[in-house]
Amino acid sequence: MSKRVAGPEIERLIQLLAKVPGLGPRSARRAALHMIKKKDQLMVPLAGAMAEAVDKVRVCSTCGNVDTIDPCTICTDPRRDSTILIVVEDVSDLWALERAGTMNVRYHVLGGTLSPLDGIGPDQLNIKQLVARAAEGDVAEVILAVNATVEGQTTAHYLTDQLEGFEIKVTRLAHGVPVGGELDYLDEGTLAAALRSRTAF
Ligand SMILES: [Zn+2]
Repeated sequence: MSKRVAGPEIERLIQLLAKVPGLGPRSARRAALHMIKKKDQLMVPLAGAMAEAVDKVRVCSTCGNVDTIDPCTICTDPRRDSTILIVVEDVSDLWALERAGTMNVRYHVLGGTLSPLDGIGPDQLNIKQLVARAAEGDVAEVILAVNATVEGQTTAHYLTDQLEGFEIKVTRLAHGVPVGGELDYLDEGTLAAALRSRTAF
């Protein structure tokens, strides 16, 4: 067993911080020490913000986004085009697309991808609610912005089947050359996909 250098409260703080994505044990120790040193400026407000978030965070019953109100800020924003839905796997993807800032539309968060080997079937994802939204009749286009992985594409095919029969255009993100990318560095799969989804110049 490794030697302890701090009391159980600090050890526990480090252990919990080490579970945060992007932090390992080493970064967790640095973060804990930094917070302890900046107790009033950082640790106290952070503890307050976390307690408040624990109390207020909820999942939007319409789209699956996380927010402090239900329906969420995006679902209740009257300036957004409600005829277009972007389907994403996770809230982090929604945030990424919002950072890109190209479309002022609404979203649907699946909460993962179909993965039979891991026991994740359609019932484990937020798919029924997507079909229900499609059935309401306001949606004209569903953009499947799932990851370009095998699971992501399997999920996209399944969703396309589920949305058949509605008057809805189902599209997906283009696969290909990243902005600023050099062809020589791309893998063959990406290059082949780029050629297939070429567009008129
Ligand atoms: Zn929502």
